[in-house]
Amino acid sequence: MERKRGKLWIVATPIGNLDDLSPRARDVLRAVALVAAEDTRHSAPLLAHAGSRARTFALHEHNERDQAERVVERLLGGDDVALVSDAGTPLVSDPGYRLVRAAREAGCEVSPVPGPCAAIAALSVAGLASDRFVFEGFLPAKAAARRERLAELVAEPRTLLFYESSHRIVEALADFVAVFGGARAAVLARELTKLFETVIAAPLADVEARVLADANQQRGEFVLVVAGAEGAAADAVLAEGRRVFTLLREELPPARAAKLAAAITGAPRKALYE
Ligand code: SAM
Repeated sequence: MERKRGKLWIVATPIGNLDDLSPRARDVLRAVALVAAEDTRHSAPLLAHAGSRARTFALHEHNERDQAERVVERLLGGDDVALVSDAGTPLVSDPGYRLVRAAREAGCEVSPVPGPCAAIAALSVAGLASDRFVFEGFLPAKAAARRERLAELVAEPRTLLFYESSHRIVEALADFVAVFGGARAAVLARELTKLFETVIAAPLADVEARVLADANQQRGEFVLVVAGAEGAAADAVLAEGRRVFTLLREELPPARAAKLAAAITGAPRKALYE
């Protein structure tokens, strides 16, 4: 009789707040024989928190091909295995797709335990169009390549999501302003679900200014959400409308200032008046 194959679980884990580990994620981490973790030392406290006694081994971008074979052997031997990354959802700017493919090709079931993901958490609080969006992950580390990538994205109409680390946030923001223009609406989500969670929703130039002005805002982990090109164009018109409205307001009553500012800039009168 053929031996029952094990199942590969792809388990999302918290991005900062341990209470975001779902009860099902905890149960799976307790039940599996093995946990493949990006960094076993990093995941140890989480596994202890979940009450998991599973054996752990490292699966990261440098050894994924070899380790995938090892995992598949265990799955074929009947063991259930969970894949976790350092934080959030595996395979989202994290290793795992080769393992998923290898497991499925070997005839093993692969099942997700969904949960936290920094990009989706940021999008959920951004207040920017979310019906269509593009996840760009990390930009290239080198300045020239980074600007080139941004230049390719300047006319993208969908909302854009980027990951950034504290090492590069300042230079990356400068590049965003240089390439997208300072008026483009953006949301910088920092340290989501953690003690120093900050969400700055402002035009890119203002986001950059606030980060430059406060060293604390340069620390931690970031998701930058940037409005798509069409929305951005509309935002720029509204920003110009507000500027003109503010000037006219010094001389005129609000309703008249809003009417004139709308006529001059094309911004919606109601939005200006409100
Ligand atoms: N797989 C993870 C997920 O589902 O979000 C992402 C892993 S990626 C290697 C790490 C990056 O995610 C960080 O550099 C940062 O850009 C973003 N990130 C992770 N946790 C975050 C948090 N709590 N707040 C803001 N960004 C976070």
